[in-house]
Amino acid sequence: MSKIITIKVKEDLKISALKKGEVNRISVHLSDNALGVPWRLPVIVVRGNHRGPTLGITAAVHGDELNGISTIFKLLETIDPSHLKGNLVLVPISNVPGYLKNQRYFSDNVDLNRIMPGKPVGTTSQIYAHHFTQKIIKKFDYLLDLHTASHGRVNSLYLRADLDNEQTRTLAYLQSPQIIVKKYDEQGTLRSWANENGIPAITVEIGNPNAFQHNLIDETLDGVLNTMRHLKMIEGKVQDLITDAVVCDHSYWIYSKRGGIVDVFPGLTEQIRKGDVIAKVYDVFGQVKEEIVADRSGIVIGKNVRPNCESGTRILHIGVNIIAPEAEDIPGHD
Ligand SMILES: [Zn+2]
Repeated sequence: MSKIITIKVKEDLKISALKKGEVNRISVHLSDNALGVPWRLPVIVVRGNHRGPTLGITAAVHGDELNGISTIFKLLETIDPSHLKGNLVLVPISNVPGYLKNQRYFSDNVDLNRIMPGKPVGTTSQIYAHHFTQKIIKKFDYLLDLHTASHGRVNSLYLRADLDNEQTRTLAYLQSPQIIVKKYDEQGTLRSWANENGIPAITVEIGNPNAFQHNLIDETLDGVLNTMRHLKMIEGKVQDLITDAVVCDHSYWIYSKRGGIVDVFPGLTEQIRKGDVIAKVYDVFGQVKEEIVADRSGIVIGKNVRPNCESGTRILHIGVNIIAPEAEDIPGHD
């Protein structure tokens, strides 16, 4: 165990002022809580001795999505700062109030990942988002934003990335996912704002909320290290990790029409066929009210695991139109 040091609060993140060849731990003041004291954003900067890009990794933008925190901690234990080229900026808990309340949303119940880049004068969450993007994210050259499924659902290890853009496609193909979904940037997400501002960014969805799933965390870590090798931040040969991944043109949720007690059948990453019964909705007397059928063939990306559902509950997230990546687009492919 290393010595625990007290972390001081800083008003801004100034990477050039930090010690080279070391791990720097900083709390950055974003906005204030109701006690009038700063929300302290934990930021870990591994500053290399040599020149190179700044790779940012953010986790828990949704406060109950925790697998990214462990990914960051494991990465920190793997990297030797004296050999690093460039900077690694790690934000293990991006949504501090949400994390404290063990919830997806910010303290005002707003989804931070729908309001980026926030506003300097605005609502509670907008002000926090503004300082988060301006003080932290703006300083990155590349961004990996680590998420998980939402409360009541489970996910495979999958990526959302714009595969038509060469830089984000390369970032995506460097990872070690089970599934990639070609995704155009939705307005208000951190990924969208970063990409619009010249910071290639992808979203990595690592399994389930409220847990550490070490098999998926280790696969995510493999992808992060591969990215660092590709960016020449660390030594080593770039590997083709996506050989087994399924790449989908797009994805969508199948919803329930009726409410009641739902049982969802297919497992994660299972291939389903059009016409398969994917779930049954029961009434409270055990009678089947609805059989939910797949309207297309595809692969299961995520699913509902909370049995009590109202009409219009998200039941199954499927990826469709499976496409084969071009060999020349895959880094490390021989
Ligand atoms: Zn999320």
